[in-house]
Amino acid sequence: MSQRVLLDMDIQGLKEVASDYGYPAYRGKQVWDWLYKGTVEISEMKNLPNKLRERLEEDFVTGMPEIVKKRVSKLDDTAKYLLRYHDGSIVECVRLLYRFGTTVCVSSQVGCRMGCTFCASTKGGLVRSLTRGEILAQVLTVQMDTGTRVSNVVIMGSGEPLDNYVNVAGFIRMLGYKEGLNIGQRHITLSTCGLVPEIIRLADLGLQITLSVSLHAADDETRARLMPVAKKYRIKEVLEGCRYYARRTGRRITFEYALAEGQNDRPEDAQKLASLLRGMLCNVNLIPVNPIEGSGYRQPDRNSVRGFKAMLIQRGIAVTVRREMGRDIAGACGQLKAGYIKEENFRK
Ligand code: SAH
Repeated sequence: MSQRVLLDMDIQGLKEVASDYGYPAYRGKQVWDWLYKGTVEISEMKNLPNKLRERLEEDFVTGMPEIVKKRVSKLDDTAKYLLRYHDGSIVECVRLLYRFGTTVCVSSQVGCRMGCTFCASTKGGLVRSLTRGEILAQVLTVQMDTGTRVSNVVIMGSGEPLDNYVNVAGFIRMLGYKEGLNIGQRHITLSTCGLVPEIIRLADLGLQITLSVSLHAADDETRARLMPVAKKYRIKEVLEGCRYYARRTGRRITFEYALAEGQNDRPEDAQKLASLLRGMLCNVNLIPVNPIEGSGYRQPDRNSVRGFKAMLIQRGIAVTVRREMGRDIAGACGQLKAGYIKEENFRK
C-alpha cells in the first residue's frame, strides 16, 4: 500500500493517528506544528519519540516537496519554484509580490489532460492529481522560503482544478484553518477551462472564492481549435453554469481571454464576446498569449490589444489586461518545468 500524506489531515486526524500508535493526542498537534513550519522529512520532527517517528515514516510522507530550482525575477521579485514530491513528480508554483501582499499560484495536478493547444502544462498529458495536502504544501513552501505570510492564493498553475474536484475543494477548506494558514475564501481564485457539472457543484458549496473561467474565444468553433474541452461543453452551457455560480454565490466571474494573433483577436471577436457577456456580473482579463515552443501562436501587437480592450469597454464590459510579471525568468505558464525537463534530457 502506498504511503499516506500527513498534510492531508487536520489536527483531529493527526491526534487520532498518534492515539492509534499508542501515544497521547498532543503528539498529533506536535506533528501539525512541524508540518505548518514547512518540515519536509518526518525524521526532522525532533520532539517526537524515535519510535513514533519510525512508525510514521513507515506509513506516511509529509506531502511537502523539495525545492529543485528557484528563479527570482530581477524586474519585479516574482519567484518561480520547481518542486519535487516524494514520488519524483515535478510541478511549478509561482510567488507574486503585490502591494496588497504575497500571492502564490499553485498547481493542482502534475501535467493536465485538457489539451489546450497554447498551454505548456498539458503537453505530456496528465501524470497524476495532487492531494489536498500536496497542493497546500506549495503555499507552505513559498511562505517558509519567503518569510512573509501568504495572503492570496490563485489555483492557476498546471492542471485543471475541477478535474481534481475533491482535493481542490478540500484544499480550499484547509487554507481557511484558523490554526493553519487562515486564508479567507475571498482571497482565493480558482481558474477552470469550464467543466460545467463541476462549476455547478462548486456553486452549490456556496464558497466565496473568485471563479475565473478560461473562455479564450467567442464562438465554439474557434474555442474548439484552442481548447479541445470546447467540444464537450458549448460556450452557451459554460455561460449558463457561470450565471448559476454568480447567482448562488453573489460573486463576480472573471473570464480569461488569451489573445493570439489571427486566432481570436479580430474586432468581430470582441463584438461577439461583448454580446455574450452583456448583463453578466463579470469582468474580462485579456492575456496576450505567451508563445510556447511549437505552438505557433503569437501575441497581437500592442495596438490590437488596446483596440480589443476598447471595444469591450465601449460595450460596457469591465476589462483588465494581465500585467506580465517575471518576464525574465520564464514566468509564463509551465515554461520553467518544460525548460528543466529539456535540460535533464540533454544531460542524460
Ligand atoms: N486549467 C485551468 C488553469 C490553467 S492556467 C484553466 O484552464 O483555467 C491559467 C490560465 O492561463 C488559463 O486561462 C489558461 O488558459 C492560461 N494559459 C495557459 N497557457 C497560456 C499561454 N501560453 N498564454 C496565455 N495564457 C495561457
